[in-house]
Amino acid sequence: MDNKDKNKGQKNQNVLEIAARCPVCKGKAHKAGFCAEHFQWFKMGLVNRKGEKPKDFDKKFQAMQRRKAA
Ligand SMILES: [Zn+2]
Repeated sequence: MDNKDKNKGQKNQNVLEIAARCPVCKGKAHKAGFCAEHFQWFKMGLVNRKGEKPKDFDKKFQAMQRRKAA
């Protein structure tokens, strides 16, 4: 029971550090301020930290789809 309380405290700290909502879909943030899906986009360079898409978004998106399928 003591361990459970310790984990609770750590979780609260993490919540304060990251944004609560994904900037792309306004969904619940999962990692680094993005939802699970758009965190993958961020890692692949499909969106920046603000959730903005680059000029070559279509190209990168298609490349990601191909990687997912492989
Ligand atoms: Zn999202």
